Amino acid sequence: MNGGMSGGMSVAIIAAHPDDEILGVGATAARHVDGGDDVHVLILATGALSRTTGTAAAVSDLERAARQAAEVLGTRPPRFLGLPDNRLDSLDLLDVVQAVEAFVADVAPRIVYTHHHGDLNVDHGITQRAVLTACRPLPGGTVRAIHAFETLSSTEWAAGDPGDAFRPNRYVEVTATLDRKMRALEAYASEMRDFPHPRSAQAVRALAALRGAQVGVEAAEAFMVTREVDRL
Ligand SMILES: [Zn+2]
Repeated sequence: MNGGMSGGMSVAIIAAHPDDEILGVGATAARHVDGGDDVHVLILATGALSRTTGTAAAVSDLERAARQAAEVLGTRPPRFLGLPDNRLDSLDLLDVVQAVEAFVADVAPRIVYTHHHGDLNVDHGITQRAVLTACRPLPGGTVRAIHAFETLSSTEWAAGDPGDAFRPNRYVEVTATLDRKMRALEAYASEMRDFPHPRSAQAVRALAALRGAQVGVEAAEAFMVTREVDRL
């Protein structure tokens, strides 16, 4: 997929918490997989469930959910940095950058999906900054595009600063893969809530329908193009 690029390319999804990778880009990831791309996932922090219970068992439950969700989509098993949840701002940004850089060097992605800078969640903003730094367009770099995804219960909860608004300018039709995204989210039952919470199955489907209707298809995931380079 992706505008004439042939299959078989490396794609990276870099998310702050387990479940963000599915909420933000799950159905698009499934399209990449179906197109023959190799989709790698990096998750920086331990996740909300661990924050609630604070136990190692909760962390491993979430990692198991992430692996199960990846299996449903057909992406590679996620890699986990295990950084402290909702406290990425307590770390030196350089340490986060270096960890992301090591991942990027290893999987050599052409396309990188990550968070929107304006999200309410502090970890999301730090993840986005670390990704931008790790993927700066130096000679010999592999990254051709960075796309920001939206994460229900964080992107739409940001304060009203217009500079933080999520204004999508790239839409990926996911009519054929939305059901797989929903199945992947079932692995994260502990993180999902009942409608009308935004992190509910009904709200996820509603957002996909809205994003689809904005571009004349049944279902879509929407992104903001952070950078795109068409190199010879
Ligand atoms: Zn998150």
